[in-house]
Amino acid sequence: MRHALPPCYSLEYNEPVTWWQSMEHVDKSRIIAPAWALWDAGMETEAGKVLYERIARKSRPVWAANILLLAYELISPVPEIGAVITFARFPQEWERIDGPTTKKAHFVFDNVRRVTLLSERGDQLFQHLCLLAENVAKVTYNAYGFAAPFDHDAGWWIAACAKGVVTAVADPDFTTQMWQTIANEEHITLESPTRCNPYCPTCHHWTLFSDIVLDH
Ligand SMILES: [Zn+2]
Repeated sequence: MRHALPPCYSLEYNEPVTWWQSMEHVDKSRIIAPAWALWDAGMETEAGKVLYERIARKSRPVWAANILLLAYELISPVPEIGAVITFARFPQEWERIDGPTTKKAHFVFDNVRRVTLLSERGDQLFQHLCLLAENVAKVTYNAYGFAAPFDHDAGWWIAACAKGVVTAVADPDFTTQMWQTIANEEHITLESPTRCNPYCPTCHHWTLFSDIVLDH
């Protein structure tokens, strides 16, 4: 079933998401199994699309941060990446530091982007981790509802960057742990796509998502 656009949109981060339907009657393996097949077969952004589009906006920062945190634990602390996790996972703490202004929110991305550019001659794991952090910052920024959002598909790219990380780590147990974090059922609650940000132009083109709407 296709949802109509929500009648109004608040920029309040903790606003209740009123237009999503319960997925209690949906077997989530119908979503996760095909997503795994795509992720495993090298179509990571498609896998990311299948999952991300079913995660409520208010859950997206935490979903994204948990993926980043799993990878971040493998390396020595990098303040710019740590800041992305704080931005996504602990909004109250982040707001307390300097207020949730658009400019400040954008700095979280800008700062990690600088680290990415410096990492280009570094090792593979660190490069993928930086790209992952960039996309987590983008998803969080969009979910907060700040103006001039990042690309809608930043959330899809999280799955691709995470695949880069697990490929660099080359540990089957870590791969399993990462996939379980990406495809965490707790976050998969939407039957059909919702808006990632009130200003996102892509969100208005619902036909782009027709391939992932569930049949009943
Ligand atoms: Zn969007």
